[in-house]
Amino acid sequence: MSQNPYISIVIPVHNEQEVLEELYTRLTQSLDALGKSYEIILTNDGSTDRSSEMLRAMHARRPDQIRVIEFNGNFGQHMAIMAGFERVRGQIVITMDADLQNPPEEIGKLVAAMERGHDVVNTYRQDRQDSWWRLQVSKWHNRVRAWMMPKLKMKDEGCMLRAYSRSIVDLMAATGESTTFIPALALTYASNPTEVGVAHAERSAGTSSYNFYKLLRYNFDLVTGFSVFPLQVFTMIGLLISLCSFAFVVFLVLRRLIVGPEVEGVFTLFAIMFFLCGIVLFGLGIVGEYIGRIYQEVRKRPRFVIRHVLERPVEITASREEDEAYLSRVSASEG
Ligand code: UDP
Ligand code: MG
Repeated sequence: MSQNPYISIVIPVHNEQEVLEELYTRLTQSLDALGKSYEIILTNDGSTDRSSEMLRAMHARRPDQIRVIEFNGNFGQHMAIMAGFERVRGQIVITMDADLQNPPEEIGKLVAAMERGHDVVNTYRQDRQDSWWRLQVSKWHNRVRAWMMPKLKMKDEGCMLRAYSRSIVDLMAATGESTTFIPALALTYASNPTEVGVAHAERSAGTSSYNFYKLLRYNFDLVTGFSVFPLQVFTMIGLLISLCSFAFVVFLVLRRLIVGPEVEGVFTLFAIMFFLCGIVLFGLGIVGEYIGRIYQEVRKRPRFVIRHVLERPVEITASREEDEAYLSRVSASEG
């Protein structure tokens, strides 16, 4: 069978039937033009549209180059990439979105940067084409992130067209965390990262899988996965408020001694109380975010479940034997 490829492209797919055909054409064209051996790993992350059949057909068209991992449900974009990472065979690993917002024509730029000796090539979107509110959310989020996690040096964390060396990918695949943020994880292992600008296009068809709520959850994954800053902020706020209240008590005692007791200002007191209750609830929520993740990790459930993999026959034989051995064990224990 053919040798291991030089480049591996890893793409998560969730309900992308409108773009897969164009993705196939443009991606294979630009990779063929590079003149280097490659493979494309597409993970179907529980799509409910025709993506699954379309991926199967793509594999049938180029069985040597296109590998398809079929998930048993929706485990999220980063887990879909992780599943690809666990199976890559190439030396340079490139992730990208299926929706063609990151043009595959830019892949050559990333490969060139990797060949200059970088182990992680991050990207920022030049002339970004997204809705106004997404741009605002991104802008502020990038700012807050840069302030909370100064060690994560990225201009733009939302752009998924990135390249990693195989050793970094193997380290990432070995972490086993079930919530993560791949570009940030890669930077924690990188020794010589760089950033290049890439073009950005509007989603050509289909709709974004992210609504405001999902984006918010996703950002909590990034923050809690790579920083304990929010917990520390609460310690500092708690300290500050304690100091202020102590000063306030001293003031009230002195006032009572000098001016006499006061009864006015009940509503001011309410306002202060509500404000503090809000802070306490928010703080509890943040603690909860961390505890929830600790809980997720200690349960040790599989972070994703693969239904089947379509790839070159050699590997299918090996994994099918494993599957059959497993299935017979399971049916034996059930029977
Ligand atoms: N995606 C995925 N699982 C999900 C959500 C998204 O695999 O639960 C994939 C999706 O198919 C796309 C990429 O992740 O390839 C980015 O998603 P999308 O374009 O919807 O996000 P946006 O560009 O709006 O951030
Ligand atoms: Mg997109």
